[in-house]
This record gives sequence, structure tokens and C-alpha cells, in this order.
Amino acid sequence: MSYQVNQKGFYGEFGGAYIPEMMHPNIEELKNNYLQIINSYNFRQDFISLLKNYVGRPSPLYYAKRMSEHYQTHIYLKREDCNHTGSHKINNTIGQILLAKELGKKRIIAETGAGQHGLATATVCALMGMNCIVYMGAVDVERQAPNVKKMRMLGAEVIPVHSGNKTLKDATNEAMRDWINNPVDTHYIIGSVVGPHPYPDMVARFQSVISEEIRWQLDEQTGREKPTRVMACVGGGSNAAGAFYHFLDDEDVELIGVEAAGKGVDTNETAATLALGTPGVLHSSRSYLIQNEDGQITEPYSISAGLDYPGIGPMHAHLFKTGRAKYIWATDEEVLQAVLLLTRKEGIIPALESAHALAGLEKILLKPEDVTVVNISGRGDKDMETYLNYFGY
Ligand SMILES: *Cc1c(COP(=O)(O)O)cnc(C)c1O
Repeated sequence: MSYQVNQKGFYGEFGGAYIPEMMHPNIEELKNNYLQIINSYNFRQDFISLLKNYVGRPSPLYYAKRMSEHYQTHIYLKREDCNHTGSHKINNTIGQILLAKELGKKRIIAETGAGQHGLATATVCALMGMNCIVYMGAVDVERQAPNVKKMRMLGAEVIPVHSGNKTLKDATNEAMRDWINNPVDTHYIIGSVVGPHPYPDMVARFQSVISEEIRWQLDEQTGREKPTRVMACVGGGSNAAGAFYHFLDDEDVELIGVEAAGKGVDTNETAATLALGTPGVLHSSRSYLIQNEDGQITEPYSISAGLDYPGIGPMHAHLFKTGRAKYIWATDEEVLQAVLLLTRKEGIIPALESAHALAGLEKILLKPEDVTVVNISGRGDKDMETYLNYFGY
């Protein structure tokens, strides 16, 4: 069984490139060049050097002693929260900006919901001296004011999108429209393992540095490369794809993704795509979606804006369908308890998204001899207002 994308851009029955004809030249150019570029010696040198000296990699693999005692098992945390700009998103934007440069592009566009991907994109554009336009739903521009200010300070133009529900889905539509109108000089940096082929594969490769490091770091600390299981939160699925990547063919390593259930999978306020979704096409790829009987996308909800997406990357749809990875979910309430537990046990305030992976620890059987690696995708700074309101400090 292969868990990698095939030549046509499919993971089993999922993925592909269901694009409007107008977008064809852009996608063809990318598809025909991405592998050769990202596997070239010069690209690897630049990518590895920036990850090390700019992002601060390798991110630590930390044995969480008090968390391990609490759960009577062994828990390691992969600390993507320690990266420059505070999350795993920067791994992908560094890769894509180098690729864009190689393709001779001068102008970068991106979509963002919570603003973490917009921030990581604005950051690498400042680094490379590229023009940066970030499309963001007008509602999100209001909700995520600090990230909007940072992006503008970094020199990016943030364009509020007033169509539809004025959130991530609408920002993505607007970014695609821009790309169609500017096919020659513009590269579109997508922020997760979603969208048309080759984006899911390309983003997974850039994020795979996470599991590449976990293997040697775990070996260094325990004498074995493989944990019992790896756990990560899943929105579009990029941090999970990166954490799973180099373990996909080791069937003895359990892979667990944790989705955002919002107020519960039995309510309409949820974003647990694999728990509730059915196959369909969104943003140019076939995967599972939360949709009604007419195929209309249901608005997703989660306390964490980074997981508030109605779809999931095609790689995860395939891992789910084949049973290679398991997907569970956590509610807002469970996630906030997990935030507090990590904060008080280890002195680490995680992002709301990452705390979904931690909340998953409550829902599975952890044996004393098990070694579980939990990917901490980002830090909690951006969520402080939510935490302060909820915990009442
Ligand atoms: C964006 C984000 C996520 C969700 O995106 P994935 O593509 O599913 O990883 C998770 N955690 C953090 C900190 C994020 O910023």
C-alpha cells in the first residue's frame, strides 16, 4: 500500500486538480517543475540553511516528565511552537518562497484565516524582498487584529474580502481569482496540504522535516527511532502530515489525528470533517467535506480559528479510508482543559489548535511502556485573549 501521491496527483481516490481552465497554466508550471526544483542541491542547501539559522530548527523534542507521570506513560513533545513566528507554518512558507524565486516570480499572494499563515507568508516576503498580498475575510480581519497589524508592519498588503461569509473560504476564492488574473509573475502560497495537486504533496514534503527530526531525536534520547504513536491536530492537515510523513510506511507506528469538534459532533457547530463529512470536491481537490445533501458546504465552527475549515487534505482522507491513521476529535471544552494541563505541568502555553492533540491523550489507551510523540504545532500567544476570558485571570 502506498500512502504517497501518485503521478496523477491522487492519494487513492482523493486529491487531483479540479481546476477552472483559466488556472491550468499556473498549475501546469508548478506541477512540471516542483520536484526537480525542491530536490536540487542548491534548493536543499538554501532550505536547510534557512530552517536552521532563520527558523531555529531543529525544534526540540522534549520529554514531558510531569505530563508522563500524570498519564502514567511516556510523552514527548515536538516543539514547533519554538519556531520563528510561533508555529509550523513557517516551514512551508520558506520552502514555497524559495520555489517562487526559482520560478522567477516577483509577487506572492496568500489566503489566511486566523492569520498564522498570512503572518508566515508576510515574514518570508520581507526576508526575500517580494511583494506580498494577503486575502483575508473581512470578519477575520476584525477578529485577528494583532496578526493583521503584524502583516502590515512586515510590508504586506492585507485585503479584506467582503463576499460570502467573509471568512477563510471566501479569502481562498479571492486568492484563486487573483492568481488566474496574474499567471506570469505571481506565486500563490497555500498554507496547508489542501488545494489542487501538487500543493498537498509539496506542502507535505516541506513539513516532513518535523518527522525527519523526530526520528533522529528520539533515537538520540531513547535508542529507538520509532515511537508507539504520533499524535497531531488536524485542520487542513499540514502539521499532522509533517509529523506522520516519515512514519507512514512503518505500520507498527500508530498515527492519530485529532479534529476540532467545536461544541460537539452532535451539534451544527463543529469542524470534525472526517467524523461527519462525506466525499466531495472543495478548492480543487477531492476529499471529505462537511456538506449538506445538496453538496453545499456547511459553515464550520471551532474555538480555534486555525482548525475552522470545512475540508481536510486528500492525504488524510486516504489515510482515514485505508485505516492507516486514526482520527478522533476533541471539543472546545476538552481543549481548554488540555491547555491548562500542559501550562501547569510543563510551563508551556500551547496554541488552541495544538491543544486538540493534547486533549486526544484523554481519549486513547496509554500503556506504561508506550512512547507517544505529540506535535505542538504552535504557541499560545495569539490565543491569550481567549484564555484570559475563559479562565478569568
Ligand atoms: C494553521 C495552524 C494549524 C492547522 O493547520 P494544519 O494545516 O492542519 O496544520 C494548527 N496549529 C497551528 C498552530 C496553526 O497555526
